[in-house]
Amino acid sequence: MNPTPEKINDSLSDFNSENAPQQQKLHKKKSSTQLPQPGTTQGSCAFDSAMITLVPITDAAHVVHGSSGCAASIWGSYSSLSSNSMLYKIRFTSDIDENDIIFGGAKKLYKGILELERRYKPAAVFVYSTCITALIGDDIEGVCKNATEKTGIPTIPVHCPGFIGNQNLGNRVAGEALLEHVIGTAEPDTSTSYDINLIGEHNIAGAIWNVLPLLEKLGIRVLAKITGDAIYKEVCYAHCAKLNVLLSSKALINMAKSMEKKYGIPYIEESVYGIEQINQCLRNIAVKLGNPDLQSRTEKLIVEETAAIDEKLSLYITRLQCKRIILSIGSFKSWLIIFAAQKLGMEVIAILTKNNSEEDKIRVKSLLGQDGIILEQNSPEEILQIINENQADMLIADKRHQDTSLMPRIPFLDINQERNHPYAGYIGILEVARELYAAFYNPVWEQVYQPAPWEGDGGDEGDRGDGGDGGEITSSSPSSSQEEEI
Ligand code: SF4
Repeated sequence: MNPTPEKINDSLSDFNSENAPQQQKLHKKKSSTQLPQPGTTQGSCAFDSAMITLVPITDAAHVVHGSSGCAASIWGSYSSLSSNSMLYKIRFTSDIDENDIIFGGAKKLYKGILELERRYKPAAVFVYSTCITALIGDDIEGVCKNATEKTGIPTIPVHCPGFIGNQNLGNRVAGEALLEHVIGTAEPDTSTSYDINLIGEHNIAGAIWNVLPLLEKLGIRVLAKITGDAIYKEVCYAHCAKLNVLLSSKALINMAKSMEKKYGIPYIEESVYGIEQINQCLRNIAVKLGNPDLQSRTEKLIVEETAAIDEKLSLYITRLQCKRIILSIGSFKSWLIIFAAQKLGMEVIAILTKNNSEEDKIRVKSLLGQDGIILEQNSPEEILQIINENQADMLIADKRHQDTSLMPRIPFLDINQERNHPYAGYIGILEVARELYAAFYNPVWEQVYQPAPWEGDGGDEGDRGDGGDGGEITSSSPSSSQEEEI
């Protein structure tokens, strides 16, 4: 998608009209694809999220046409894993400087692409425009066309300067680039009635590898992964699938809709985070593929997998049940912690919500019950007060709240752990249980509850400190209340 003002406006009004009834009904906040306003921070830019979406195509080279600052943006910190090529990990950039801003950077980009194609032999090259190169009007479309003709390697322009919007728009631009230049450009050697595409999972920490074996057991072939652990060629085949499965991602729904329109491929929206969710996902795939035998095999697999995971979880349930946790929800993955906590018999006493939709808040309320606390401000003082008043045993939030948990000396779990641990599928829930257990029974708490050397014998081992305001919390240490080891 070349980001002319008309196309950007189309994209924005598209998104807004799709969501309009719900927004009106729920007085929802601004759409996340709204154009950024000067002076406001809106998370990562469109360029960043376009890269996050496409970089997991592992055997392609990804070239940032812009300053080296853009190339060092946050997309590189996403731990999207590969089972094959590591080329996608290299940050290529045309490193635009003042001279290029004056005289244009297209020639430099072209030479750079030829050089990288000579040295690395990538399956394809994705070229990303950024704010500077879009503003000076470099013709990356022309450069990519010439480079493709010269080398025979597909070179794909992605028009995603940061100023066009933020995350969702960047994801959509990435999807448009695949639709326009990649999908449908090659045919697979064979095709089966059980070919599906998985869209929207970026294989962070290897999450998709928890799901693929399940599909394989059922005889379902994943034709294209868009884009976690994908190779370029499989994305070219995506138009031959019988079903698109959109995993936990609203951002690429337009892509699924376009493929339905263009290639007649139906799509379903599913999640693989949580036991009920993965069960439902497998069931729905089997139903959509329309084979009764597949459906009965799916039911059998669900029974087997659920029984196996229940058995493994029982060990953790005995150690974690009845613990009281405070949880911050942000991404869809943090919902998994709620499901996992419930499965483990833990009690979620309060939820910290920020930038969540009304729909999410209603869902949270129904999960928490009457006594549950929903906190929208998330200031350390308020969190501390809830910890003190409710004798919480653990805080699960993002890193910036870590200090808040240190004051009352309760265990803390970083909610963004999914970047380091694969939480998808049945195994994923076990991973969550392990993480909760490890945080709760970390031997450090033995040390933390000891009186400081300068306090002599006067310290009280069960005392978690005064929380900075003199108020004491009286719950006992997790380690002292549970001495068994897993
Ligand atoms: S906002 Fe523009 S300059 Fe900043 S990282 Fe994104 S593309 Fe680069």
